[in-house]
Amino acid sequence: MKVGFIGLGIMGKPMAGHLIKNGYETYLFDLNTKAVQELAELGGNACESNKEIAEICDVIFTMLPAGKHVKQVLFSDDGVAKNGKPNTIIIDMSSVSPEESKSFANDLYEYNMAFIDAPVSGGEPMAIEGKLSIMAGGAEDDFNRVLPLLKTMGSNVVHVGEVGTGSAAKLANQIIVSIHLAALSEAAVFASKSGIDLNKLYQAISGGLAGSAVMEAKMPKIIDRDFEPGGRIEINFKDLGNVQSSANAIGVPLPITNLVKEVFGSEVANGNATKDHSYIINFFERMANHQIPKGGK
Ligand code: NAD
Repeated sequence: MKVGFIGLGIMGKPMAGHLIKNGYETYLFDLNTKAVQELAELGGNACESNKEIAEICDVIFTMLPAGKHVKQVLFSDDGVAKNGKPNTIIIDMSSVSPEESKSFANDLYEYNMAFIDAPVSGGEPMAIEGKLSIMAGGAEDDFNRVLPLLKTMGSNVVHVGEVGTGSAAKLANQIIVSIHLAALSEAAVFASKSGIDLNKLYQAISGGLAGSAVMEAKMPKIIDRDFEPGGRIEINFKDLGNVQSSANAIGVPLPITNLVKEVFGSEVANGNATKDHSYIINFFERMANHQIPKGGK
């Protein structure tokens, strides 16, 4: 089986690396040739275009910023659909809307290609460790064929249902993560302006009901004022936009999510789109006229 991987950014590069380390014959492409070369040094095969990947591979992963990039990679004249082999399975691991996933699947069907939406949660640290949570939508047979490949990247791989349900599950995940980030930020600014050392706050509450995976991942970054991106603010903003349009389409009011979306939007408007998403602390700091000191006290 020849496996293609398109999109070797923060997430895609370590994910493709696990396929290579697990012995899969892996073909690689990204507009960023440096990322392709780094993975070729691990034993992957460098390609020069998406067309080349399409011509060679039986299974093709995409891990791209947003739906418009996936659409271009799949359906442009030099893209996967027009240049690939019948029966190719496309696994899109990017975070896109369920409506986009369904439309990709329908259009690929015309080319006799199968589609699975398999977005991920866990961010860069879990991508590096191969311990992502992967939520997949698609036909069960297709899912079972690619499950061993997905297991090289994820420790929790769940077949959620038909095409689009993986993307819908990821949006539900992003509602929870984004609201948690806002809650953590609001509480951290409140505690810090009350005179509390944030290290002590973290120590006191992380084992209780307020503790969370978001707190474990982001409180140390807030304390260190290390906003190098794992997940970027612009990614949450994009995902919350997809949440909003999907929820509108099916008639689900999301009052809290929409408020938090505006917080992310404010940070994008203030030039902070590419900072780590924990940097929404900046929104709450500006509102409270209080910056948390580096080191937490
Ligand atoms: P990224 O911007 O770091 O990587 C995207 C890569 O796609 C880049 O290397 C870019 O050069 C490449 N690319 C763009 N257009 C291309 C094209 N036409 N052909 C080939 N390559 C192309 O993004 P990321 O942080 O790795 O995120 C990827 C996806 O994963 C997004 O949909 C994001 O929402 C999702 N996601 C990210 C995180 C995170 O913490 N970063 C966590 C979970 C899910």
